[in-house]
Amino acid sequence: MGYDVIIAGASFAGLAVAAQLPGKRVLLVDRKPIGAGQTSACGTLVSTLKALGLEDAILQVHDRLVVHTPGRSFVYPMTEPFCTFDYPVLCRLLWDHGNAQFIQAAVLGLNGDQVQTSDGSFRGGIVVDASGWRAVLASKVSPDLVRRDRLSFGLETTARCQGDGLHFWYDPTRLLPMGVTWAFPIGGLTRIGMGSYRGDTVLSPGLDRFLADLDLQRNGRHGGYFPHARRDPVVGSLFLVGDAAGQCLGLTGEGIRPALFFGSRLGQMLRALVDGEMSLAEARESYRYLVGVRVPGYDLLCLAQRILTRLPVATLQCLMAFVSLPPVLRRVLAMYLGAFRLGAPRGPAGRRIAPSLDAGVRARWN
Ligand SMILES: Cc1cc2nc3c(=O)[nH]c(=O)nc-3n(C[C@H](O)[C@H](O)[C@H](O)COP(=O)(O)OP(=O)(O)OC[C@H]3O[C@@H](n4cnc5c(N)ncnc54)[C@H](O)[C@@H]3O)c2cc1C
Repeated sequence: MGYDVIIAGASFAGLAVAAQLPGKRVLLVDRKPIGAGQTSACGTLVSTLKALGLEDAILQVHDRLVVHTPGRSFVYPMTEPFCTFDYPVLCRLLWDHGNAQFIQAAVLGLNGDQVQTSDGSFRGGIVVDASGWRAVLASKVSPDLVRRDRLSFGLETTARCQGDGLHFWYDPTRLLPMGVTWAFPIGGLTRIGMGSYRGDTVLSPGLDRFLADLDLQRNGRHGGYFPHARRDPVVGSLFLVGDAAGQCLGLTGEGIRPALFFGSRLGQMLRALVDGEMSLAEARESYRYLVGVRVPGYDLLCLAQRILTRLPVATLQCLMAFVSLPPVLRRVLAMYLGAFRLGAPRGPAGRRIAPSLDAGVRARWN
Protein backbone atom coordinates (compact mmCIF):
# COMPACT_ATOMS: atom_id res chain seq x y z
CA MET A 1 0.00 0.00 0.00
CA GLY A 2 1.35 3.47 -0.84
CA TYR A 3 1.16 6.61 1.31
CA ASP A 4 1.51 10.25 0.36
CA VAL A 5 3.72 10.79 3.41
CA ILE A 6 5.37 8.40 5.88
CA ILE A 7 6.61 9.90 9.15
CA ALA A 8 9.11 8.05 11.36
CA GLY A 9 8.51 9.16 14.99
CA ALA A 10 5.22 10.27 16.55
CA SER A 11 6.27 12.81 19.15
CA PHE A 12 6.28 16.64 18.87
CA ALA A 13 7.84 16.96 15.41
CA GLY A 14 6.18 13.97 13.72
CA LEU A 15 2.71 14.72 15.10
CA ALA A 16 3.04 18.41 14.14
CA VAL A 17 3.77 17.41 10.53
CA ALA A 18 0.85 14.96 10.47
CA ALA A 19 -1.52 17.57 12.00
CA GLN A 20 -1.15 19.68 8.84
CA LEU A 21 -2.05 16.80 6.54
CA PRO A 22 -5.68 15.84 7.30
CA GLY A 23 -7.33 14.08 4.40
CA LYS A 24 -3.97 12.90 2.96
CA ARG A 25 -2.71 9.32 3.10
CA VAL A 26 -0.27 9.64 5.99
CA LEU A 27 1.40 6.86 7.98
CA LEU A 28 2.98 7.61 11.36
CA VAL A 29 5.30 4.96 12.78
CA ASP A 30 6.59 4.92 16.35
CA ARG A 31 7.92 2.11 18.51
CA LYS A 32 5.80 3.40 21.40
CA PRO A 33 2.06 4.14 21.57
CA ILE A 34 1.23 7.80 20.93
CA GLY A 35 1.86 9.87 24.08
CA ALA A 36 3.69 7.06 25.91
CA GLY A 37 7.30 8.21 25.41
CA GLN A 38 7.71 11.37 27.48
CA THR A 39 11.36 12.34 27.81
CA SER A 40 11.10 16.00 28.72
CA ALA A 41 9.99 18.55 31.34
CA CYS A 42 7.37 19.75 28.83
CA GLY A 43 7.87 23.49 29.28
CA THR A 44 7.07 25.77 26.37
CA LEU A 45 5.41 29.06 25.43
CA VAL A 46 1.64 29.34 26.01
CA SER A 47 1.30 31.13 22.64
CA THR A 48 2.85 28.17 20.78
CA LEU A 49 0.26 25.78 22.19
CA LYS A 50 -2.57 28.26 21.58
CA ALA A 51 -1.54 28.75 17.94
CA LEU A 52 -1.93 24.98 17.44
CA GLY A 53 -5.15 24.60 19.46
CA LEU A 54 -3.35 22.61 22.18
CA GLU A 55 -4.09 24.75 25.24
CA ASP A 56 -6.18 21.98 26.87
CA ALA A 57 -2.89 20.22 27.64
CA ILE A 58 -1.61 23.07 29.85
CA LEU A 59 -1.01 22.14 33.51
CA GLN A 60 0.43 25.39 34.90
CA VAL A 61 1.29 28.83 33.53
CA HIS A 62 4.58 30.55 34.53
CA ASP A 63 5.39 34.22 34.17
CA ARG A 64 8.97 34.21 35.40
CA LEU A 65 12.19 32.33 35.07
CA VAL A 66 14.52 32.12 38.07
CA VAL A 67 18.20 31.21 37.79
CA HIS A 68 19.97 30.21 41.02
CA THR A 69 23.76 30.45 41.16
CA PRO A 70 26.01 30.01 44.22
CA GLY A 71 25.01 32.77 46.66
CA ARG A 72 22.84 34.69 44.21
CA SER A 73 19.52 34.22 42.35
CA PHE A 74 18.23 36.15 39.33
CA VAL A 75 14.54 36.59 38.57
CA TYR A 76 13.62 37.23 34.93
CA PRO A 77 9.98 38.28 34.42
CA MET A 78 8.80 36.90 31.07
CA THR A 79 7.31 39.23 28.45
CA GLU A 80 4.91 36.40 27.61
CA PRO A 81 4.02 33.36 29.69
CA PHE A 82 5.53 29.91 29.53
CA CYS A 83 3.63 26.83 30.63
CA THR A 84 4.16 23.23 31.62
CA PHE A 85 1.86 20.72 29.94
CA ASP A 86 0.63 17.12 29.97
CA TYR A 87 2.57 15.16 27.31
CA PRO A 88 0.01 12.38 26.60
CA VAL A 89 -2.83 14.92 26.34
CA LEU A 90 -0.84 17.15 23.98
CA CYS A 91 0.09 14.20 21.75
CA ARG A 92 -3.52 13.01 21.64
CA LEU A 93 -4.75 16.50 20.68
CA LEU A 94 -2.17 16.83 17.89
CA TRP A 95 -2.98 13.33 16.68
CA ASP A 96 -6.70 14.22 16.52
CA HIS A 97 -5.90 17.17 14.20
CA GLY A 98 -4.25 14.97 11.60
CA ASN A 99 -6.19 11.70 11.36
CA ALA A 100 -3.09 9.88 10.12
CA GLN A 101 -2.83 6.10 10.25
CA PHE A 102 -0.59 4.94 13.10
CA ILE A 103 1.35 1.74 13.52
CA GLN A 104 3.40 0.85 16.55
CA ALA A 105 6.62 -0.56 15.14
CA ALA A 106 10.35 0.11 15.06
CA VAL A 107 11.57 1.93 11.95
CA LEU A 108 14.58 0.00 10.66
CA GLY A 109 15.70 1.57 7.39
CA LEU A 110 14.93 2.83 3.93
CA ASN A 111 15.09 1.03 0.61
CA GLY A 112 14.23 3.43 -2.23
CA ASP A 113 10.74 4.69 -1.39
CA GLN A 114 10.12 1.74 0.98
CA VAL A 115 10.32 2.41 4.71
CA GLN A 116 11.27 -0.81 6.47
CA THR A 117 9.76 -1.40 9.88
CA SER A 118 9.48 -4.31 12.32
CA ASP A 119 5.90 -4.62 11.02
CA GLY A 120 6.73 -4.80 7.30
CA SER A 121 7.68 -2.34 4.53
CA PHE A 122 5.58 0.63 3.44
CA ARG A 123 5.87 2.76 0.31
CA GLY A 124 5.78 6.54 0.72
CA GLY A 125 5.98 9.33 -1.87
CA ILE A 126 7.56 11.55 0.79
CA VAL A 127 9.41 10.32 3.88
CA VAL A 128 9.96 12.43 7.01
CA ASP A 129 12.49 11.52 9.70
CA ALA A 130 11.10 12.81 13.03
CA SER A 131 12.66 10.05 15.11
CA GLY A 132 14.52 12.29 17.59
CA TRP A 133 18.28 12.60 18.17
CA ARG A 134 19.06 9.20 16.61
CA ALA A 135 17.60 10.25 13.21
CA VAL A 136 17.11 6.55 12.51
CA LEU A 137 16.53 6.89 8.77
CA ALA A 138 18.81 9.80 7.92
CA SER A 139 21.75 8.32 9.84
CA LYS A 140 21.55 5.26 7.55
CA VAL A 141 21.91 7.55 4.52
CA SER A 142 24.54 9.77 6.16
CA PRO A 143 26.43 7.78 8.83
CA ASP A 144 28.28 10.87 10.20
CA LEU A 145 25.06 12.81 10.83
CA VAL A 146 24.76 12.00 14.55
CA ARG A 147 27.80 13.32 16.39
CA ARG A 148 28.03 12.00 19.94
CA ASP A 149 30.08 15.05 20.99
CA ARG A 150 27.12 17.27 20.00
CA LEU A 151 24.60 15.65 22.33
CA SER A 152 23.43 16.81 25.75
CA PHE A 153 21.84 14.35 28.16
CA GLY A 154 19.02 14.97 30.62
CA LEU A 155 17.44 12.95 33.43
CA GLU A 156 14.27 13.91 35.21
CA THR A 157 11.86 12.82 37.90
CA THR A 158 8.61 14.08 39.41
CA ALA A 159 8.47 15.15 43.08
CA ARG A 160 5.56 15.95 45.36
CA CYS A 161 5.96 19.71 45.82
CA GLN A 162 4.48 22.81 44.26
CA GLY A 163 5.77 26.20 43.22
CA ASP A 164 5.68 28.98 40.71
CA GLY A 165 7.98 29.92 37.81
CA LEU A 166 10.56 27.89 35.91
CA HIS A 167 13.67 27.44 38.08
CA PHE A 168 17.23 26.62 36.99
CA TRP A 169 20.33 26.04 39.15
CA TYR A 170 23.85 26.50 37.87
CA ASP A 171 26.48 25.41 40.38
CA PRO A 172 29.42 23.64 38.69
CA THR A 173 31.07 22.70 42.00
CA ARG A 174 28.18 21.40 44.11
CA LEU A 175 25.71 20.23 41.47
CA LEU A 176 27.02 19.57 37.97
CA PRO A 177 29.98 20.84 35.94
CA MET A 178 28.87 21.88 32.42
CA GLY A 179 25.19 21.40 33.13
CA VAL A 180 22.05 22.70 34.79
CA THR A 181 19.45 21.47 37.23
CA TRP A 182 15.82 22.53 36.91
CA ALA A 183 12.44 22.45 38.66
CA PHE A 184 9.30 22.97 36.55
CA PRO A 185 6.09 22.98 38.64
CA ILE A 186 3.01 21.26 37.15
CA GLY A 187 0.26 22.02 39.66
CA GLY A 188 0.59 19.83 42.78
CA LEU A 189 3.82 18.22 41.51
CA THR A 190 7.14 19.42 40.12
CA ARG A 191 9.36 17.97 37.37
CA ILE A 192 12.93 18.10 38.64
CA GLY A 193 15.83 17.24 36.38
CA MET A 194 19.49 17.58 35.52
CA GLY A 195 21.01 18.10 32.09
CA SER A 196 24.65 17.71 31.08
CA TYR A 197 25.90 19.69 28.06
CA ARG A 198 28.78 17.18 27.86
CA GLY A 199 26.33 14.34 27.42
CA ASP A 200 27.27 12.73 30.77
CA THR A 201 24.72 10.01 31.47
CA VAL A 202 25.55 9.33 35.13
CA LEU A 203 23.23 11.95 36.59
CA SER A 204 21.21 9.82 39.01
CA PRO A 205 23.47 10.28 42.09
CA GLY A 206 23.56 14.08 41.63
CA LEU A 207 19.81 14.27 41.11
CA ASP A 208 19.22 12.15 44.23
CA ARG A 209 21.51 14.43 46.28
CA PHE A 210 19.63 17.51 45.02
CA LEU A 211 16.29 15.94 45.97
CA ALA A 212 17.60 14.88 49.39
CA ASP A 213 18.75 18.48 50.08
CA LEU A 214 15.15 19.57 49.49
CA ASP A 215 13.78 16.62 51.47
CA LEU A 216 11.98 15.28 48.38
CA GLN A 217 11.43 11.74 47.09
CA ARG A 218 12.12 10.62 43.51
CA ASN A 219 9.02 9.36 41.72
CA GLY A 220 9.92 7.49 38.51
CA ARG A 221 12.41 8.89 36.01
CA HIS A 222 12.77 9.56 32.31
CA GLY A 223 15.10 11.40 29.99
CA GLY A 224 17.53 10.93 27.16
CA TYR A 225 19.81 12.73 24.75
CA PHE A 226 19.01 15.98 22.95
CA PRO A 227 21.25 17.52 20.30
CA HIS A 228 22.86 20.94 20.64
CA ALA A 229 24.09 21.25 17.06
CA ARG A 230 21.96 21.64 13.99
CA ARG A 231 22.06 19.14 11.16
CA ASP A 232 21.12 19.32 7.50
CA PRO A 233 17.27 19.41 7.30
CA VAL A 234 17.22 17.51 3.98
CA VAL A 235 19.31 14.34 3.64
CA GLY A 236 19.01 12.39 0.38
CA SER A 237 15.29 12.10 -0.27
CA LEU A 238 14.41 12.59 3.42
CA PHE A 239 13.01 15.62 5.23
CA LEU A 240 14.34 15.83 8.82
CA VAL A 241 12.50 17.69 11.58
CA GLY A 242 12.80 18.23 15.34
CA ASP A 243 15.75 16.67 17.18
CA ALA A 244 16.43 14.50 14.11
CA ALA A 245 17.48 17.74 12.37
CA GLY A 246 19.28 19.05 15.48
CA GLN A 247 16.61 21.73 15.91
CA CYS A 248 16.76 21.72 19.72
CA LEU A 249 18.30 25.03 20.84
CA GLY A 250 21.74 25.20 22.40
CA LEU A 251 22.15 26.58 25.95
CA THR A 252 18.43 26.57 26.83
CA GLY A 253 17.79 23.00 25.60
CA GLU A 254 14.42 24.12 24.31
CA GLY A 255 13.40 21.64 21.63
CA ILE A 256 9.61 21.46 21.78
CA ARG A 257 8.87 24.90 20.34
CA PRO A 258 11.23 24.39 17.36
CA ALA A 259 9.88 20.85 16.78
CA LEU A 260 6.29 22.14 16.72
CA PHE A 261 7.22 25.18 14.62
CA PHE A 262 9.28 23.39 11.96
CA GLY A 263 6.92 20.38 12.05
CA SER A 264 3.88 22.56 11.35
CA ARG A 265 5.58 24.54 8.61
CA LEU A 266 6.99 21.40 6.98
CA GLY A 267 3.53 19.81 7.14
CA GLN A 268 2.06 22.84 5.31
CA MET A 269 4.74 22.56 2.60
CA LEU A 270 4.16 18.83 2.18
CA ARG A 271 0.42 19.47 1.84
CA ALA A 272 1.17 21.90 -1.01
CA LEU A 273 3.48 19.29 -2.53
CA VAL A 274 0.85 16.53 -2.34
CA ASP A 275 -1.76 18.93 -3.81
CA GLY A 276 0.57 19.68 -6.74
CA GLU A 277 1.03 23.35 -5.77
CA MET A 278 4.76 22.85 -5.32
CA SER A 279 7.34 20.52 -6.82
CA LEU A 280 9.57 18.30 -4.66
CA ALA A 281 12.57 20.49 -5.50
CA GLU A 282 10.64 23.61 -4.44
CA ALA A 283 9.51 22.00 -1.19
CA ARG A 284 13.10 21.01 -0.39
CA GLU A 285 14.41 24.48 -1.18
CA SER A 286 11.65 26.16 0.85
CA TYR A 287 12.25 23.96 3.86
CA ARG A 288 16.02 24.50 3.71
CA TYR A 289 15.34 28.24 3.53
CA LEU A 290 12.93 28.18 6.48
CA VAL A 291 15.63 26.51 8.58
CA GLY A 292 18.51 28.45 7.02
CA VAL A 293 17.28 31.91 8.06
CA ARG A 294 17.44 30.77 11.69
CA VAL A 295 20.97 29.34 11.46
CA PRO A 296 22.70 32.45 12.92
CA GLY A 297 20.45 32.23 16.01
CA TYR A 298 21.24 28.52 16.41
CA ASP A 299 24.98 29.11 16.04
CA LEU A 300 24.88 31.99 18.54
CA LEU A 301 23.19 29.82 21.19
CA CYS A 302 25.70 26.99 20.62
CA LEU A 303 28.56 29.45 21.01
CA ALA A 304 26.94 30.90 24.15
CA GLN A 305 26.65 27.37 25.57
CA ARG A 306 30.35 26.72 24.96
CA ILE A 307 31.52 30.06 26.35
CA LEU A 308 29.18 30.55 29.33
CA THR A 309 29.81 27.10 30.77
CA ARG A 310 33.56 27.83 30.84
CA LEU A 311 33.31 31.21 32.58
CA PRO A 312 34.08 31.66 36.28
CA VAL A 313 30.81 31.88 38.24
CA ALA A 314 31.48 35.50 39.31
CA THR A 315 31.83 36.61 35.66
CA LEU A 316 28.68 34.73 34.75
CA GLN A 317 26.81 36.44 37.58
CA CYS A 318 27.84 39.87 36.23
CA LEU A 319 26.48 38.89 32.80
CA MET A 320 23.24 37.58 34.31
CA ALA A 321 22.78 40.81 36.26
CA PHE A 322 23.26 42.76 33.02
CA VAL A 323 20.65 40.64 31.19
CA SER A 324 18.19 41.21 34.04
CA LEU A 325 18.14 44.98 33.30
CA PRO A 326 14.61 45.53 31.90
CA PRO A 327 15.57 47.06 28.48
CA VAL A 328 18.23 44.36 27.91
CA LEU A 329 15.89 41.56 28.99
CA ARG A 330 13.10 42.84 26.73
CA ARG A 331 15.47 42.85 23.74
CA VAL A 332 16.92 39.41 24.47
CA LEU A 333 13.45 37.91 24.93
CA ALA A 334 12.08 39.57 21.78
CA MET A 335 14.86 37.95 19.73
CA TYR A 336 14.73 34.60 21.49
CA LEU A 337 10.95 34.18 21.61
CA GLY A 338 10.29 35.74 18.20
CA ALA A 339 12.26 33.15 16.23
CA PHE A 340 9.58 30.42 16.19
CA ARG A 341 6.29 32.30 16.03
CA LEU A 342 3.42 30.23 14.74
CA GLY A 343 1.15 33.21 13.98
CA ALA A 344 1.15 35.01 10.64
CA PRO A 345 4.83 35.23 9.61
CA ARG A 346 6.32 38.73 9.24
CA GLY A 347 9.69 39.95 7.99
CA PRO A 348 12.61 37.96 6.58
CA ALA A 349 12.76 35.47 9.45
CA GLY A 350 9.08 34.66 8.97
CA ARG A 351 9.22 34.00 5.24
CA ARG A 352 8.28 30.45 4.46
CA ILE A 353 9.85 30.08 1.09
CA ALA A 354 13.13 30.66 -0.70
CA PRO A 355 13.28 33.97 -2.61
CA SER A 356 14.91 32.21 -5.59
CA LEU A 357 11.77 30.19 -6.37
CA ASP A 358 9.30 30.76 -9.16
CA ALA A 359 7.22 33.95 -8.66
CA GLY A 360 3.91 32.06 -8.74
CA VAL A 361 4.96 29.65 -6.00
CA ARG A 362 6.33 32.54 -3.97
CA ALA A 363 3.11 34.52 -4.24
CA ARG A 364 1.11 31.57 -2.92
CA TRP A 365 3.50 30.85 -0.05
CA ASN A 366 5.09 34.01 1.25
C1 LIG B 1 15.17 15.47 30.42
C2 LIG B 1 14.78 16.37 29.29
C3 LIG B 1 14.00 17.50 29.55
C4 LIG B 1 13.63 18.36 28.50
N1 LIG B 1 12.82 19.42 28.76
C5 LIG B 1 12.41 20.23 27.77
C6 LIG B 1 11.50 21.29 28.02
O1 LIG B 1 11.01 21.48 29.14
N2 LIG B 1 11.16 22.11 26.99
C7 LIG B 1 11.64 21.93 25.73
O2 LIG B 1 11.30 22.71 24.83
N3 LIG B 1 12.49 20.89 25.45
C8 LIG B 1 12.87 20.04 26.42
N4 LIG B 1 13.69 18.97 26.14
C9 LIG B 1 14.08 18.72 24.73
C10 LIG B 1 12.88 18.08 24.01
O3 LIG B 1 12.39 16.99 24.76
C11 LIG B 1 13.23 17.58 22.60
O4 LIG B 1 13.90 18.60 21.90
C12 LIG B 1 11.94 17.18 21.88
O5 LIG B 1 11.38 16.04 22.50
C13 LIG B 1 12.20 16.89 20.41
O6 LIG B 1 11.00 16.40 19.84
P1 LIG B 1 11.05 15.38 18.60
O7 LIG B 1 9.65 15.09 18.25
O8 LIG B 1 11.96 15.90 17.56
O9 LIG B 1 11.81 14.08 19.15
P2 LIG B 1 11.37 13.08 20.34
O10 LIG B 1 10.47 13.76 21.30
O11 LIG B 1 12.65 12.49 20.84
O12 LIG B 1 10.55 11.96 19.57
C14 LIG B 1 11.11 11.01 18.73
C15 LIG B 1 10.08 9.89 18.55
O13 LIG B 1 10.63 8.94 17.63
C16 LIG B 1 10.41 7.64 18.14
N5 LIG B 1 11.46 6.76 17.62
C17 LIG B 1 12.78 6.84 17.84
N6 LIG B 1 13.42 5.84 17.20
C18 LIG B 1 12.45 5.12 16.57
C19 LIG B 1 12.47 3.97 15.75
N7 LIG B 1 13.62 3.33 15.40
N8 LIG B 1 11.30 3.49 15.27
C20 LIG B 1 10.12 4.11 15.59
N9 LIG B 1 10.06 5.20 16.36
C21 LIG B 1 11.20 5.71 16.85
C22 LIG B 1 10.45 7.80 19.65
O14 LIG B 1 9.73 6.74 20.29
C23 LIG B 1 9.77 9.16 19.84
O15 LIG B 1 8.37 9.04 20.00
C24 LIG B 1 14.07 18.09 27.16
C25 LIG B 1 14.86 16.95 26.90
C26 LIG B 1 15.19 16.09 27.95
C27 LIG B 1 16.00 14.86 27.64
